[in-house]
Amino acid sequence: MGFLLEGRVVDHVRLFAWKACKNAILTGENFVHCGISHALYCLVCGMDREDVGHALFFYSLAKLIWAVSELPWGVVKEWNSGCEDWMRGAHVRLELGQFAWFLIVCWILWNNRNQILMEGSMEDARNLLANSKKYLAAYAYAITKPAI
Ligand SMILES: [Zn+2]
Repeated sequence: MGFLLEGRVVDHVRLFAWKACKNAILTGENFVHCGISHALYCLVCGMDREDVGHALFFYSLAKLIWAVSELPWGVVKEWNSGCEDWMRGAHVRLELGQFAWFLIVCWILWNNRNQILMEGSMEDARNLLANSKKYLAAYAYAITKPAI
């Protein structure tokens, strides 16, 4: 999955994307598969089984976050046959900076989902993305500034 090595993305975001492609993040479905839980359905919305697709794209809050992400919906909506194909498609169709942002939005979605589950609270989608863009800008600055 060399395509995940491109773009200015911190390693934990890249690692998260790789795990999502390998279906190795602890979604409800994977918790059940590992015998840790019986909660197959999404604990955030309760509307569907929680697999990677649900967590990163299909549930309503995820779609709201994608809608305000300013990434082209025509690319984001192309979830057809799994996370790796989805990310590969985005990598081909987005320019590198957009692709980095795409991966970061995935990571934001997952963190927000975990925050909801653990703390019972959620951030407003626009604030969430605005804070994440600041984080991205700070990271981009940090890796391009000349060494002292
Ligand atoms: Zn859900």
